[in-house]
Amino acid sequence: MTSNVNPPVALITGITGQDGSYLCELLLSKGYTVHGIVRRSSSLDRPRLSRQYNDPQIYGKSLFLHYADLSDVTSIRRIVQKTQPAEFYHLAGQSHVGLSFEIPESTCELTAIGTLQIMEILRDQPKPPRFLHASSREIFGTPSVTPQDESTPMNPNSPYGCAKAFATQLVKVYRESFGLFFCNAICYNHESPRRSENFVTRKITLGAARIKKGLQTELVMGNLDAERDWGYAKEFVEAMWLMLQQPAPEDFVLATGRTHSVREFMEHVFSYLGLDWQQYYSVDPRFNRPADPTGLLGDSRKAKQKLGWEAKTPLKELARIMVEYDLQTLQTPEPSNP
Ligand code: NDP
Repeated sequence: MTSNVNPPVALITGITGQDGSYLCELLLSKGYTVHGIVRRSSSLDRPRLSRQYNDPQIYGKSLFLHYADLSDVTSIRRIVQKTQPAEFYHLAGQSHVGLSFEIPESTCELTAIGTLQIMEILRDQPKPPRFLHASSREIFGTPSVTPQDESTPMNPNSPYGCAKAFATQLVKVYRESFGLFFCNAICYNHESPRRSENFVTRKITLGAARIKKGLQTELVMGNLDAERDWGYAKEFVEAMWLMLQQPAPEDFVLATGRTHSVREFMEHVFSYLGLDWQQYYSVDPRFNRPADPTGLLGDSRKAKQKLGWEAKTPLKELARIMVEYDLQTLQTPEPSNP
């Protein structure tokens, strides 16, 4: 990049999350100026961003964080006007499907109405940015066909899925009605060492690492037969970036095209640690989802053809990446509360 060309400017909601932090790194590596929206929380600790945040060559130069909240539209409008992004990646939201049965109203408020409010802000801009909405396979719920692609009808069966379906359809409506460069990344599950601990893959890798270090004796699991199409988050954010570099806005299914059971994931993790997984778990139906979807398998052929993107990391390798990280970063013994 030559010095007289301004770097592209991107704004990310959900920058402190798994995907947001990987996307931030990707965009910084491409020479972007990155603005991120962060919520006020009682702790200033943002572990997924700490390296960039604590680097004076990055923070305040090419990375900027701004306080805002999806529930505070004015705060987002102000940041959009101040930063004038060319690309807007909307990744923020309550991302846990199971939890959406416990807190359906706030899930729908933030994920459905929150996305609509952002699109309204962007529509008002003199030069609306390109917009990516992180949609989800949960819009297909119990799907009518397997595998699912961009033309599969929506049939969500969770509050989270309903909220994502609403937002996904509105992205299309805004694209078609107003000619805006708005698109949906319809993501199947993607994991990493940055996945929150309340997701099953991370619960397993962290639990297994603790068992290996003698800090825990067993994992209490839900349905081991539940199947997921699991990819590696770091690869998924590359596809998100590619989507906004295309000549025209389009929706893309992002998936590996392979499903595996929770049991298989456990086997990979424990076997990497040299342990027999069958000796270290019990089942508690409380961890089962009220409606666990079946037949969810993504068809990403369009992403391969048009973006040149495909998920490459097999599940066994993903399991290794995650459990290795947990093993290395677990402290022995764990620090007690001050
Ligand atoms: P995470 O849960 O890791 O991150 C969610 C982000 O949203 C965090 O930065 C969080 O901030 C932020 N956030 C939550 N509520 C608010 C709010 N009210 N105002 C501002 N920010 C808020 O999710 P992922 O990174 O895994 O997922 C990114 C997006 O992709 C999500 O929308 C998710 O639903 C979607 N998706 C993810 C899939 C996956 O497998 N990972 C699959 C399909 C879709 P804080 O750090 O303060 O909590």
